[in-house]
Amino acid sequence: MQAIEKMYKILGISDTVYTFGAKIEEELKERFEKIDAVAEYNQLKVIRAMQEAKVSEACFNYASGYGYSDQGRDTLEEVYAKTFHTESALVRPQITCGTHALALALGANLRPGDELLSPVGKPYDTLEEVIGIRPSKGSLAEYGITYKQVELLADGTFDYENIKKAIGEKTKLVTIQRSKGYQTRPTFSVTQIGELITFVKSIKPDVICMVDNCYGEFVETIEPSDVGADMIVGSLIKNPGGGLAPIGGYVAGKEEYVNNCAYRLTSPGLGKEVGASLGVMKDFYQGFFLAPTVVKGALKGAVFAANIYEKLGFKVVPNGSESRHDIIQAVEFGKPEGVIAFCQGIQAAAPVDSYVTPEPWPMPGYDSDVIMAAGAFVQGSSIELSADGPIKEPYAVYFQGGLTYEHAKFGILMSLQKLIEAGVVTL
Ligand SMILES: *Cc1c(COP(=O)(O)O)cnc(C)c1O
Repeated sequence: MQAIEKMYKILGISDTVYTFGAKIEEELKERFEKIDAVAEYNQLKVIRAMQEAKVSEACFNYASGYGYSDQGRDTLEEVYAKTFHTESALVRPQITCGTHALALALGANLRPGDELLSPVGKPYDTLEEVIGIRPSKGSLAEYGITYKQVELLADGTFDYENIKKAIGEKTKLVTIQRSKGYQTRPTFSVTQIGELITFVKSIKPDVICMVDNCYGEFVETIEPSDVGADMIVGSLIKNPGGGLAPIGGYVAGKEEYVNNCAYRLTSPGLGKEVGASLGVMKDFYQGFFLAPTVVKGALKGAVFAANIYEKLGFKVVPNGSESRHDIIQAVEFGKPEGVIAFCQGIQAAAPVDSYVTPEPWPMPGYDSDVIMAAGAFVQGSSIELSADGPIKEPYAVYFQGGLTYEHAKFGILMSLQKLIEAGVVTL
């Protein structure tokens, strides 16, 4: 053990910070065991799907051109469908990111005159332009698709009365965002999502229920597709890519809706038949295989951080003891120096670009300066340890990821070290 302490010291972590962290970690043993058990179950779930789909070495071959009968691609889609218990899946490097996957699922399944409903308040920022909440070229609004939104109640639960009122003749698709993203509402558990879907279907059985599953995959032993979701949608540079997928997104769900997505992604008439996998298959398979373990590390990191900063008197969301339904952790520092020092600590602990010092800057699309820390193997990957914070009230930092718990832990200790050095925290 002394050897570990010495290594931390070489890397810039003081004895005081190390000892403080070790004490917190000691108290989390039971919590971590529960996270281990979820990962163990999910690991078996993925292996079982891979065995049933008969994944073979040939699945990792390079396919180019049109990609007709691309065995690796077709088998991988079967693996996703079997893991998430859906009829079908579309898993492609041609889906460029999470926003693209969500825009695809919406655009492919809505027609002019249809209405989209979000019963969980405002969706993720980038979807505002997809839907046309903020006017944008190519938005659903431009194609005559209307949008309604029902806010959550003050305690973060569903407003069933107003959801019922909002479902009308035109309502075709209901979109439910699992993760809070960068809002202050709670993240929903899969069970809660199931209750909402059951309610919506009791009012209008043929409505399509879609779940934005970003940051949620493998956090629990069940997914929204196990509780009635017709489509679940996510990004491969988050949880299901396991840190190895260099690009990509997925849609898993009812065959009809997934096929609609394929017809829109490629072309009417062509659908899933084309779209060569261009050599990324080995990483897609291996990343999906590793994803339950990677998510486990990220979750432990988030719980560790929540407990460290809660102990130091800061507001943390979720708090140190509540149950987790995604991998995002927020910490409120109440002053800009806190946000900056935290991000600089995360950056200093990275395997890539550790020597650069992040600074706040006026990022396009934001109404304040933003600071971001990321030293990732895949650009912008947020399953890798990353943090960002807008320089405005309440001066909160949002962080997530860590391909290993060990790295997440080191990053968090380094953030604390920097906060002490900046005079924001005293131990
Ligand atoms: C990240 C995220 C998105 C968008 O994904 P990108 O890959 O950044 O485009 C959408 N919804 C939620 C909840 C997310 O966390």
